[in-house]
Amino acid sequence: MNVSVDFKKLKMFEACNELVHGFTIRTYQDYNSKRHALFPGLNKGDETYRLHSAWVLKALSIDSKNLFTVNQVHGDTVCVVKNRKPKNDAHLQKADAIVTHLEEFPLGIWTADCVPVLIYDKRLRVLGLVHAGRRGTEINIVRKTLQTLNKEFGCLAKDIALGLGPAIGKCCYEVDEPCLTGFKRSYPYWESLVSPSPSHGRFYLDLLNANAIDAVSFGLQENQIERMPYCTSCDNNMFYSYRRDGNAGRILTVAMIRKKA
Ligand SMILES: [Zn+2]
Repeated sequence: MNVSVDFKKLKMFEACNELVHGFTIRTYQDYNSKRHALFPGLNKGDETYRLHSAWVLKALSIDSKNLFTVNQVHGDTVCVVKNRKPKNDAHLQKADAIVTHLEEFPLGIWTADCVPVLIYDKRLRVLGLVHAGRRGTEINIVRKTLQTLNKEFGCLAKDIALGLGPAIGKCCYEVDEPCLTGFKRSYPYWESLVSPSPSHGRFYLDLLNANAIDAVSFGLQENQIERMPYCTSCDNNMFYSYRRDGNAGRILTVAMIRKKA
């Protein structure tokens, strides 16, 4: 591999040898130190996707060539993977969260402004990745994923670490009033997630904290949650932002449980 692919990482997992993870930035560097777009297209069937995915896995020292992804649809379905040989069309399964206890089995989630959430149970060695956009957040996808981890694997809140990756911040995520309806229903303290925008009838919504509150509602403590200090719109030179770039590209979040040494 004569290119270099960089990642942003959560501090809470940086020194964790049993879990490998990374959030891609929007460029890679070639052997002349020139930067080019990473994943310039969104077609998962094309050659660029295959090549860039392979670079990403290699740069994270992941041997597996197969990245397990799902067809993300802004819903609240959690895909539970207990079998190492999922069907070939598994990536077509409609879901917005993936959980597994399989070692050396990399999971991937795509985002651009939505919140990529990484969940890890250190005691039972179970992993979850969540795509939490506005719609997923308002139907509590993080809490539902935590409930699934409990039901399927016996995970308890006290053993879980949860990281919120690069997403659009409350500085930039402006929505109109109808977008708040679901939040008012799902979040008793929704007012703490909303601040008025200078534009009439519009508001800034805090997706990151909404997901943190969702995790706390399952029983996590604040010190088990890490928020990455980025806004995909403000830090647009580093990350793709759907609001800024449209369909230009996505952040790929990869995570995998390492085989026990
Ligand atoms: Zn911002």
